Amino acid sequence: MTIPSAKTVTAKVLVVGGGPGGYVAAIRAGQLGLDTVLVEADRLGGTCLIRGCIPSKALIHVASRFEAMEQSLGDGRFGIALDLPPRLDLAAAMRWKDGIVDRLSGGVAALLRKAKVRVLRGWAVFSDAKTCTVQGSDGPLTVRAEHVILANGSEPVPLPNLPFAGPVLSSTEALSLERLPRRLVVVGGGYIGLELGSAFAKMGSTVTVVEAQPRILPLYDAALTDPVRRWLERAGVTLHLGARALGMEAEGNGQALVVQTADSGMIRLPVDAVLSTVGRRPRLEGWGFEAMGVERRGAFVAVDDQCRTSMRNVWAIGDLVGEPMLAHKASAQGEMVAEIIAGHRRRFAPAAIPAVCFTEPEIVSVGLSPTEASAQGIDVIVDQFPFAANGRALTLDAGESGFVRLVARRDDRRVIGIQAVGTHVSELSGEFALALEMGAELEDVAGTIHAHPTLGEVFHEAALKLLGRPLHLGS
Ligand SMILES: Cc1cc2nc3c(=O)[nH]c(=O)nc-3n(C[C@H](O)[C@H](O)[C@H](O)COP(=O)(O)OP(=O)(O)OC[C@H]3O[C@@H](n4cnc5c(N)ncnc54)[C@H](O)[C@@H]3O)c2cc1C
Repeated sequence: MTIPSAKTVTAKVLVVGGGPGGYVAAIRAGQLGLDTVLVEADRLGGTCLIRGCIPSKALIHVASRFEAMEQSLGDGRFGIALDLPPRLDLAAAMRWKDGIVDRLSGGVAALLRKAKVRVLRGWAVFSDAKTCTVQGSDGPLTVRAEHVILANGSEPVPLPNLPFAGPVLSSTEALSLERLPRRLVVVGGGYIGLELGSAFAKMGSTVTVVEAQPRILPLYDAALTDPVRRWLERAGVTLHLGARALGMEAEGNGQALVVQTADSGMIRLPVDAVLSTVGRRPRLEGWGFEAMGVERRGAFVAVDDQCRTSMRNVWAIGDLVGEPMLAHKASAQGEMVAEIIAGHRRRFAPAAIPAVCFTEPEIVSVGLSPTEASAQGIDVIVDQFPFAANGRALTLDAGESGFVRLVARRDDRRVIGIQAVGTHVSELSGEFALALEMGAELEDVAGTIHAHPTLGEVFHEAALKLLGRPLHLGS
């Protein structure tokens, strides 16, 4: 389609997508003095800020506060007793969450302004590798640039027999519910489904999880996921593992999800809502990707270790280019690409990309697990230190099931993997990643004074234990 009277904008760098990949790329490009245009069809912040990381963590916080108050009913806990049950106003909670999202999205706009990035609102459609048309509110604009950074992100994938409609929600709709579903079935026991499912369980929904694999969070090993499974079971969440969601059927005045279970045959689960979180796919449809002559690798855009695509000066970053589909990976790639365009020598070769599940308890994984190390033929020593022996964990009522596990090479004692499960362990992910990025050996971790009382001491003690000299562990 040709648009006859389109105005033309030119730039050195055109970034498509204002998520954590695209907006960071644009800010860094602007800081480096590159004339940069960013095109975003929606609000600034992308999946992460508008309908992902941030709103989900805000909701989890609300749910945890509510749960803590419920646990204080009657005789109470920690000497705190409430006489009346707390009331949850989900619409008000969502407004609080939306306030955080608004503030952060406005912050991104201000940062882009400060970096002198021109932001165009509208959907970009490419006609060739370096030219797109943006359908903005003031009519069409043609944008041409020397460099194009594709940061179009990803979208939720529905199961073919369970399209997003009616009571079947993606994470986006679940994060905007104004009334608590009484019966919620989560299809897909990955981190997005379990984070949100746990939050709804804390807020009072009756939650059932249907997962096709025999375990929840199948990307993590059982030692890490068992505490999460135990929490879910204690919270009254029913797990159907090795089970398949077949589709919705009418049930009285409402609807039921039909599930093929591993041991009880076909069952019907009456529902108020189904949250389907079976996966996400790169967003490659509807914006002229095919016109760009850029190659794919499977479902993703093919890139090298500098995020170059097969087309000269077309770059791709973030969820568009593959796993892990995480915000901090997208941002790191965006920053790198801007610097390469500005003439810096950079390559995307992180020692580790931390992954965090904000479940109950939280899980962190950085670098190689013991199984992954063995699969790569690396001779490793592995040990873990329990939260139960850490003062801070006990003061946070978090001593029960947590631990930090270290994986180190046997020959030079270099740390190549750190995993942890426990309340608040997400906050240790930075220290873990730094240790791997700096090539720490066990002695480096053991020789670093960790503040007392903190959960970081568990990491310190795990290194001491692996060196055969733990200080705070009885026999
Ligand atoms: C519920 C949920 C929770 C999550 N929690 C976490 C978490 O805790 N930690 C974490 O690291 N990650 C988390 N993620 C994943 C994280 O959101 C993504 O990895 C991250 O947003 C990817 O960033 P991106 O820049 O590649 O793409 P996106 O954030 O998807 O941004 C892409 C942007 O491009 C825009 N766009 C696309 N095509 C066009 C076009 N043609 N024209 C104009 N604009 C266009 C879109 O509107 C979108 O705003 C979560 C995701 C979900 C859904």
